[in-house]
Amino acid sequence: MTANRSLLILPGDGIGPECMGQVRRVIDWMGEKRAVRFEVEEDLVGGAAIDAHGTPLTDATMDKALSADAVLLGAVGGPKWDDLPFEQKPERGLLRLRKDMELFANLRPAICFDALVSASTLKPEVVAGLDIMIVRELTGGVYFGEPRGIEDLGGGERRAVNTQVYTTSEIRRVAAVAFELARKRRNRVCSAEKANVMESGVLWRQEVDKLHEESYGDVELSHIYADNCAMQLVRNPKQFDVIVTDNLFGDILSDEAAMLTGSLGMLPSASLGATDETGRRKALYEPVHGSAPDITGQGKANPLACLLSYSMMLRYSFDLGAEADLIERAVEDVLEQGIRTADIVSEGTTEVSTEAKGDAVLAALDRLAG
Ligand code: NAD
Repeated sequence: MTANRSLLILPGDGIGPECMGQVRRVIDWMGEKRAVRFEVEEDLVGGAAIDAHGTPLTDATMDKALSADAVLLGAVGGPKWDDLPFEQKPERGLLRLRKDMELFANLRPAICFDALVSASTLKPEVVAGLDIMIVRELTGGVYFGEPRGIEDLGGGERRAVNTQVYTTSEIRRVAAVAFELARKRRNRVCSAEKANVMESGVLWRQEVDKLHEESYGDVELSHIYADNCAMQLVRNPKQFDVIVTDNLFGDILSDEAAMLTGSLGMLPSASLGATDETGRRKALYEPVHGSAPDITGQGKANPLACLLSYSMMLRYSFDLGAEADLIERAVEDVLEQGIRTADIVSEGTTEVSTEAKGDAVLAALDRLAG
């Protein structure tokens, strides 16, 4: 495999660079041992870019992100930049990336590794073997709908308005992502909305049904009201494969699903845009966690969320499922050996540093690939 794939790495702030350092080692391993090579560029985002350039994302970096096959980001933000005006904060860099790359589908897997079953607040039998994927619409719905605002009605009374709005094409493109994903998994999609009380939910359900009938009849489709979905996620999460939902419900359901699995240091994510005429899809991969200023520079960061984001990239941007599986098996192997960073350490396991966890992943990869 030649290096005709381009990857932009944006380590960012806080523990971002520490975690990304370990991912770089795995990227090198993949190049050497599996001939999976990328043209890798690294650049600044967030506070690091503010310090160097006075802006959380330069136009030049944005251009690189737009032309790369995939972008892998660490984390942004930290107390050093907390007092900056909202428009200049590190987080604006990330928001601009998501907006300019038009990333409309957010993928949040909730996988419960066997070795971490006890880290969940749910009973082991409920979460053991859990592997679900939430696809959240990311650029539409009530967070962006107009009209919006707060108006003064006089006499001490005020009125706030937000508008939940979806068009056919916005629904179809995110539903298509869910159906495509399901085909690579257990072939089931459950679509969540509130068609019982919201017109946007009625349209959502109709359009998902229509697309299913037209193009994805081979995938099993079901519908669920979003409130029931929230209940079912804690009652029996393993009934789901892929859940597709709007921006607001997805925000809540994806956090709920994530917490089924235990630690923030283990959670990857992907955000996907439209496919262009060459079949290439803009994509940003990042851990769910932030820059963790409380542990920055102490060698305590868990690099696995970042590493699992890279493995999602291999799977979804480059169709390298076997390599992604290999990384996930190596992660499982390290956890089973009881090699843990502080966030997931428990009785009978050993606490190690970020770097030592990277060493353990590489040793596991060698063993599994050997
Ligand atoms: P956080 O995710 O950074 O940290 C929350 C807690 O989880 C902390 O105690 C932290 O030590 C721990 N934690 C997080 N990731 C970990 C890891 N990989 N290994 C071990 N422990 C981990 O959230 P926060 O404290 O609310 O925010 C800190 C900064 O990060 C803020 O500036 C915030 O704006 C920013 N932030 C950025 C992103 C992003 O870049 N996508 C997301 C959330 C927060």
